Amino acid sequence: SPASFKLLLLCTLSSGGLVAYSESQADVSKTSVQMYEKDCKKKRVVVLGTGWAGISFLKDLDVSTYDVQVVSPRNYFAFTPLLPSVTCGTVEARSIVEPVRNIIKKRNEEIQFWEAECIKIDAANKKILCRSTINNNLVGNENFSLEYDYLVIAVGAQVNTFNTPGVLENCHFLKEVEDAQKIRRSVIDCFEKAVLPGLSEEERRINLHFVIVGGGPTGVEFAAELHDYVQEELVNLYPTVKDLVKITVIQSGDHILNMFDERISCFAEQKFGRDGIEVQTGCRVISVSDKEITMKLKSKGEICSIPHGLVVWSTGIETRPVVKDLMGQIGQANRRVLATDEWLRLKGCEDVYALGDCATINQRKIMEDISTIFKAADKDNSGLLSIKEFKDVIDDILERYPQVEHYLKSKHLSDVTDLLKDPQGNDRDEVDIEGFKLALSHVDSQTKNLPATAQVAAQQGAYLSKCFNRRHQCEDNPEGPRRFRGSGRHQFHPFRYKHLGQFAPLGGEQAAAELPGDWVSIGHSTQWLWYSVYASKQVSWRTRVLVVSDWTRRFIFGRDSSRI
Ligand code: FAD
Repeated sequence: SPASFKLLLLCTLSSGGLVAYSESQADVSKTSVQMYEKDCKKKRVVVLGTGWAGISFLKDLDVSTYDVQVVSPRNYFAFTPLLPSVTCGTVEARSIVEPVRNIIKKRNEEIQFWEAECIKIDAANKKILCRSTINNNLVGNENFSLEYDYLVIAVGAQVNTFNTPGVLENCHFLKEVEDAQKIRRSVIDCFEKAVLPGLSEEERRINLHFVIVGGGPTGVEFAAELHDYVQEELVNLYPTVKDLVKITVIQSGDHILNMFDERISCFAEQKFGRDGIEVQTGCRVISVSDKEITMKLKSKGEICSIPHGLVVWSTGIETRPVVKDLMGQIGQANRRVLATDEWLRLKGCEDVYALGDCATINQRKIMEDISTIFKAADKDNSGLLSIKEFKDVIDDILERYPQVEHYLKSKHLSDVTDLLKDPQGNDRDEVDIEGFKLALSHVDSQTKNLPATAQVAAQQGAYLSKCFNRRHQCEDNPEGPRRFRGSGRHQFHPFRYKHLGQFAPLGGEQAAAELPGDWVSIGHSTQWLWYSVYASKQVSWRTRVLVVSDWTRRFIFGRDSSRI
């Protein structure tokens, strides 16, 4: 039993393992000493962050073989895709978070969690310095340090203000749960202020002008949620000001949702037009004050200002200070995010892994290798390959770099297959390598920077935990199962991102989805697909039930507009 085992272990250790037992006892004690030694030899894994990447790594990690410690200023995991719904009370904040300690409990409490932020990574000495983020007058040290054998950096990113004056002071952000809760309160503040006696109509109008800077998925989804909230609840609760409400989306590019298929961005713009949401494209915000947003119209170079009641800044992300500091230490200071190889190992830093929004896979080598493969195949230096040679080269590339396949098979397939046909549409005998390389340059730009999404972060976390779980097996077989020409043998397959599609909820129970294989789906049925996917992707049954019941509550009773 565990108790007798502990007793035995204690006796064995206290006597240096030399106590004479009967033969069978001696065997057991030997085993227990071995187990103790093995325990002591457990490699220390420190994980920074409890977001998509960190939690997906922990969920699948075989914690019995490692001594695992997790550091994060948030003692919960947040389901970020539903944050826009929290801003308007469509779902409650607590429904989309799962306490880290619940997750630890499910892993037999073999993981230790420290609520703190890592403020310094000392890669040379395999140490990190942490500081508690609990701001109150509790006693005890705030700072502590941890040593690691393996470090997994999954700290995500922070909002990027592009150093625009006034943004930090006067804008809301939509990155954390607290941000969504703040927006929810501020929207109600705008309405309550607008109906106070003694305000001019212009003042009421300004208070009810909601501006969203950034026409990406988050900005667009928030605009759509807010529009639904106003139309379905607030116009009935504040009927005197219902005609004064205005929502504006400011986008620096030519279209909103420009990372989606153009059918989706076109549909979104038309829908917003019908809903009365103003979309101002080609405008770059140059400053934000508490009263106005000042922007430059790209086409005319003109500068104009618009008054606002509330501004939500949703323009992109940048690296966190602790990551920037590490990048300086390891010679990556000139990069935007941490560069890893395809096994998610940090370049220039042993036993450190980086995943999720704080990292990107550096694929420059892939493109160099692909060029080399072409050169080798083009024996007569003609710049042309026969169809057979060309297909062999493609197979070779895909065998070595399977992550390229997604791009060859989706968006860029037409570029590639076009090369196999002449302008009349007849099959060619030979393929022009330069043309193919040009087509691949799209692939290069796409694969170099995987999108900063939960999908990528979660897949990377799951991949890395599998590698960690098989590390011992691989150490016993150092040759590893796979050989890659020119780069030796590797123990694991490289990380391969599988794109499962992306959604853009557009309000009015309509959504757009870009599905694998360039499928586009738009409308009410897509919204139901969105509901089912997001319910199924919840990290626990508890949050799944809470989220679904919030949706049901909203259908029956509407959203709660109390300012609490
Ligand atoms: P995060 O999930 O941000 O986690 C980072 C973790 O690190 C957090 O726990 C944080 O507290 C912790 N941390 C921060 N600093 C430190 C430190 N110094 N030391 C230790 N820990 C630290 N993606 C999609 O695929 N689909 C969507 O629909 C979608 N919608 C989104 C909607 C919104 C509003 C937002 C903000 C993002 C959305 N995303 C979506 C993007 C997605 O949330 C991110 O790509 C994903 O969260 C990245 O995961 P991550 O683990 O790298 O970082």
